[in-house]
Amino acid sequence: MGRVLVTGGAGFIGANLCERLLTEGDDVVCLDNFTTSTRSKIAHLERHPRFDLVIGDVRNPIRIDADRIYNLACPASPPKYQSDPIYTTETSVLGAINVLEMARRTGATVVQASTSEIYGEPTLTPQPESYRGNVTTWGPRACYDEGKRCAEALFFDYRQKYGVDVRVARIFNTYGPMMEPNDGRVVSNFIVQSLRGEPMTIYGDGSQTRSLCFVSDLVDGLYRLARRAAPSTPVNLGNPNEMTVLEIATTIASVVGLPLTISRQPLPTDDPTQRCPNTSLASDLLDWSPQVSLTEGLVATVSYFRTRLAGELNGGSPLAEAAE
Ligand code: UDP
Repeated sequence: MGRVLVTGGAGFIGANLCERLLTEGDDVVCLDNFTTSTRSKIAHLERHPRFDLVIGDVRNPIRIDADRIYNLACPASPPKYQSDPIYTTETSVLGAINVLEMARRTGATVVQASTSEIYGEPTLTPQPESYRGNVTTWGPRACYDEGKRCAEALFFDYRQKYGVDVRVARIFNTYGPMMEPNDGRVVSNFIVQSLRGEPMTIYGDGSQTRSLCFVSDLVDGLYRLARRAAPSTPVNLGNPNEMTVLEIATTIASVVGLPLTISRQPLPTDDPTQRCPNTSLASDLLDWSPQVSLTEGLVATVSYFRTRLAGELNGGSPLAEAAE
């Protein structure tokens, strides 16, 4: 138990992590500026006596006492992080410096939410942590990929130069309750589209692959990463169950219980053709592996979106969306 700061704590993974930390008995401070999240989504957290919300931006220096810090603040969905790319890079890089400076002052343990995006268009699959990636410095994804790569460098430099207790998780595609309906990522788009009776938007031919991890598994990995001995390298966290986007669409249609209808859209520039984590390190160091099957996870996620979009789906006004 302790006092834990979660930057980006109102975001999708952040809010799920805050829930878990409260369950574990921690005092939780959530720092968020609601750029890509909605305050109404965390109303249940705000009612908790051990939860504090600080509205603020990680690009500014932080003065919040904590034993542990999870740095999750950054837009993470491609359409969101590309909509203001300079903001995205600033959030990754200045945010990393600000949490690291705070940890340096206070002695806190600090966990960085890095990403599978640092592997870019991988030439090796599944991707182990030792793979250095294949990333462009100037494409539309560079603001996120290079921002996160720079943050990793800062984390290991602060460890080396100042002895800060750092841990770096490379997070692969994650889905589950508390995603935003308008987030723009594959699972939320396909579920929301099918609940609305719209065709699923498949980008390209749908043969590109992703490996989907349910959020409670991912959060468990983050929780362990902060509590175990510090690994000397970044650690992949994700589900190695690799599928094509077309297979993801088919599975979601069957969980929603409707026939698959699709609309083809152009493949975005630099969209990676394959992505799958090698999770041996997480298994060895954290004794961690994903436990939730895709069907189980999708049932929970579809149920979340049905509730969140209830007003709209029942023919009334889109209540959840109106609050955004
Ligand atoms: N995708 C898609 N339709 C959508 C959203 C995404 O076909 O409505 C594809 C996208 O092109 C990518 C994959 O699904 O290949 C995962 O996209 P997402 O935005 O979830 O995250 P990424 O892994 O690309 O960061």
